[in-house]
Amino acid sequence: MQPFAIIALALILARTLAELWLSQLNRRYVCAHRDEVPPPFREIMDESTYQRSIDYTLAKNRFGNIVNVFDAVVLIAVLFSGPLPWVLGKFGTSFGTSIWAMAGFLFLAGITLSILGLPFDWYAQFKIEERFGFNTTSMKMWIVDRLKGLLLIVAFGYPLLVLVLKLIEWTGANWWLWATAVVVAFQLLLMLIAPAIIMPLFNKFTPLGEGALRERLFALARRTSFPTRSIEVMDGSKRSRHSNAFFTGFGRFRKIVLFDTLIAQLTDLELESVLAHEIGHYKKRHVVKLLGVSIAGIVIAFAAIAWLARQQWFYRAFNFEYRVGFAAANVIPAMLLFALLAGTITFWVAPFIHIWSRRFEYDADAFAGATMGEVQSLIQALRKLSEKNLSNLTPHPFYSSFYYSHPTLLERERALRMTA
Ligand SMILES: [Zn+2]
Repeated sequence: MQPFAIIALALILARTLAELWLSQLNRRYVCAHRDEVPPPFREIMDESTYQRSIDYTLAKNRFGNIVNVFDAVVLIAVLFSGPLPWVLGKFGTSFGTSIWAMAGFLFLAGITLSILGLPFDWYAQFKIEERFGFNTTSMKMWIVDRLKGLLLIVAFGYPLLVLVLKLIEWTGANWWLWATAVVVAFQLLLMLIAPAIIMPLFNKFTPLGEGALRERLFALARRTSFPTRSIEVMDGSKRSRHSNAFFTGFGRFRKIVLFDTLIAQLTDLELESVLAHEIGHYKKRHVVKLLGVSIAGIVIAFAAIAWLARQQWFYRAFNFEYRVGFAAANVIPAMLLFALLAGTITFWVAPFIHIWSRRFEYDADAFAGATMGEVQSLIQALRKLSEKNLSNLTPHPFYSSFYYSHPTLLERERALRMTA
C-alpha cells in the first residue's frame, strides 16, 4: 500500500470510530436519564411523550451507526479494491476522453454511490419516521421525489460540471479560480430561482389567507423593516409531520415560508416570535456570513483539487494513471477522490462551524426577544416544537457541542431568560 493510501484509510477509520464513540456516549447519557423526566422538562413533556422521545433518539442512534459503518465499508471498498481506475479506463475506451464523456463518468460514479444509500433513505422514512408517526409520504411520492431530484441534477449539475472542466482546458493553471467564480455565480443564481422554479416542483405554496395571523406577521415585518412581498404556506404535511419556517429569495423577491404543520402546532403569538427569530438571522447578517463561509468552502475545495491534480503520489495511492497537463481527463481522478475523501476532513471542521452557528441562534433569539418585548412566546414555541418533534432533551453535552447547529432547548431558554 502507498503511504497516502494508508493515511486515507486512517482518516476514514478515524472518522468512523469517532462517530461510533460519540454515538455511544450519547446513547449512554440518554439511557441514564430514561427513568424519569428530568425536572427542567416536566412542564414540557409528559412521561409517555418523554419515553417516546427517548425511543426515537435511540432508534435513530442505532440506525445512524449502521449507516456510518456501511458508508465506511463502501468507501474503503471503492477506494482500495480498484474499481474506479478500471471503470474510468473502460469509460475512456468506450466514450473517449472528451469533456462530455469525463463529466458523464463523474456523474455515473456519483449516482451509483447515491443509489447504494437509497435503501437506508427508504428505511429511515418508512420504518423509523413511520413508527414514530412522522411519516406522511407515500411510496409513490418518495420515488417521484427522487426522480425529480435526479432530473434536476442532470439538468443543472451536468452542464455546470462540463463548464468547469472546459475552464481547465481554457484557462490552464488558474482554472480553479475561474471554476470558483462560476460555481459561486451558479449558487447565487440557484438561490434566486429556487423559490420560483425548483421548490414548487416539490411543494405547493399558497399565500397565507387574510386574517389576524397574516396581519400580525406583516406588521412584524414592517416593524422590523424586513421587506417582504409575501408570506406563504408550504404543504410540508404531505411528506412529514415535522415543522419548520424559513425565508427565501433576495430583496423584493423575498418571501417568508411557513410549513402548514408549524401553523397547526403554534399559536399566532408563538408564530410571530418564530418569525421574529428568522428575521433576526437576516438582520444580524447571518445569511450573508454563511454565504461567505460556503464561498470560502468552494475556494478551498477547488484549490485543493487543483493542487492534488499535480501530485503524483495522490494518483499513485489509488492506482490512477498520472498525466501532466491541463486536460479534463487528467483532473478527473483528483475531483473524484477529493469528493470521496473530503468528508473525512470536514467531519472535524464541522464542530467549529457549529460553534459559530449556535452563536447565530442565540443572536437571533435575542433579536426576537427584543422585537417581541418578551421572551415567553418564543420559549413556549421552542418547547412545543421540541415536544412535537420528539427532540432529544438530554443529549450528551459533548455530543451536542460536536454535532448540533442549534443550542439545546435548555441552553436557549437559559439565554433567553438572561436577555429578558
Ligand atoms: Zn435560527
